[in-house]
Amino acid sequence: MAKIIDGIYFIQGQDEFIPDSHTYVIGEPSSMDLSLIDVGLAGKGKYKIQSILRDGIELNAIKRIIMTHTHFDHIGCISEILNEIPHAELWIHSKEAELLEKGDDRAVYGMEMFKDMCQMQYGLAPDAFKLKVHKKLEGSEKFLLGNMEWEIIHIPGHSSGGIALYNKEKKVLIPGDVVYADYAIGRFDLFGADARELKNSLLKLSKLEVDILLPGHNQLVKGLPSDYILRTLKMWEPYLV
Ligand SMILES: [Zn+2]
Ligand SMILES: [Zn+2]
Repeated sequence: MAKIIDGIYFIQGQDEFIPDSHTYVIGEPSSMDLSLIDVGLAGKGKYKIQSILRDGIELNAIKRIIMTHTHFDHIGCISEILNEIPHAELWIHSKEAELLEKGDDRAVYGMEMFKDMCQMQYGLAPDAFKLKVHKKLEGSEKFLLGNMEWEIIHIPGHSSGGIALYNKEKKVLIPGDVVYADYAIGRFDLFGADARELKNSLLKLSKLEVDILLPGHNQLVKGLPSDYILRTLKMWEPYLV
């Protein structure tokens, strides 16, 4: 793991022909109240767990897994992770949590063709993502997690139940796949996506003070320009209709 600042750690995604999302670990290690933000692609559970253990973090310090959204590249290795930390709670926005609990995996695979490909490639059972969700998030909640305050912000558009985590004190934003470095945004053509909602979500995020941007893929950004998200929105606005 790499330390970003005190209480925020990073495990880089190991992309294959399908990307593997980054995993963030939030909380002060001494609090024994750590959270994983996203877990990653199927097959990457061992790599993520080993990265955590290598830094001397005890697995029983990890109390929950919070998903920015449930796409396959973020939740694919959830069963591998839960095998290692079965006590961890799963927190997901209600819109995607309710689908998973019903065994509806359209929000995981995004499209039927991708589902067939993944199930074959990774030998996944048809009900691999029928999961119990311990906390269904709505947005606007504030939680004290590992001695840090995190706000949950519902940012649909890339997926219906996408959330960002925001720490106001340190101006840290974890937006999943909604906005990346280099003025990139998440795709809006998969199941549950909506271009106009994505526009509104970017507008919502543009009003936050963000110094550190920690997206689901690619580069992390420290010292984010104050108008970065707004400029990104303006660039993409013609397509977000
Ligand atoms: Zn995604
Ligand atoms: Zn992703």
